[in-house]
Amino acid sequence: MDAETLRQYLVFYQDLGVQAIYRREAERDSQGGGDAEPPSLPPAGESLLQIREDIGECTRCGLHQGRQKIVFGTGDEKAKLVFVGEGPGADEDLQGIPFVGRAGQLLTQMIEGTAKKEGIPLERKDVYICNVVKCRPPGNRTPEPDEMEICGQFLFRQLSTIRPKAICALGSTAVKALLGRPEGVTRLRGNWYKWRDIPLMVTYHPSYLLRPYNQNAKREAWEDLKKVLHFVYD
Ligand code: URA
Repeated sequence: MDAETLRQYLVFYQDLGVQAIYRREAERDSQGGGDAEPPSLPPAGESLLQIREDIGECTRCGLHQGRQKIVFGTGDEKAKLVFVGEGPGADEDLQGIPFVGRAGQLLTQMIEGTAKKEGIPLERKDVYICNVVKCRPPGNRTPEPDEMEICGQFLFRQLSTIRPKAICALGSTAVKALLGRPEGVTRLRGNWYKWRDIPLMVTYHPSYLLRPYNQNAKREAWEDLKKVLHFVYD
């Protein structure tokens, strides 16, 4: 196996949440015993449709038990900008479309309102919007680490397929899944980070902005979005 193939396998395993890879298999293999060939990589250049088909009627984690619909993602497959939220709420679960409830309406307003104000011709349909987990957590609780790990591989594949110019992580669940950083959004927001080699901006989740005592955060989120839109579309 050459170094590039090995690198691709390691990235693939990392996406699956595998933290450590041991040498024993390789040693046994070189001694002629056992079959240490790793499972095949996801096909390079796969489409979003292929990823959706791979998810199927998923039962990989417990979240499938309470869901109505899998909420895969919406928008332009060739979008230059992808927004990543946490997981579907009640409205999204019923419709199968991300960010269509109250928080979603605010997100749409923020995207389209900021774009308009900044003279950028952009509508919600021009970006891509998805979540870390594709099924609604019961009572809208925060997804558990195992749920994020299992479903995160599909998010990573979506992002690898779209290869946007930038990603906007909405709230702490998206930050944990994409950056693996424990700090709160208040600490990280407004700055650029990277997921793989793609620039990533952290900002508040729109649900947080809906709370009446967070009006200052609302102003900051508009600032963050302004930065993202100019970076991507100027
Ligand atoms: N909150 C999210 O994180 N995602 C949605 O799709 C809706 C609400």
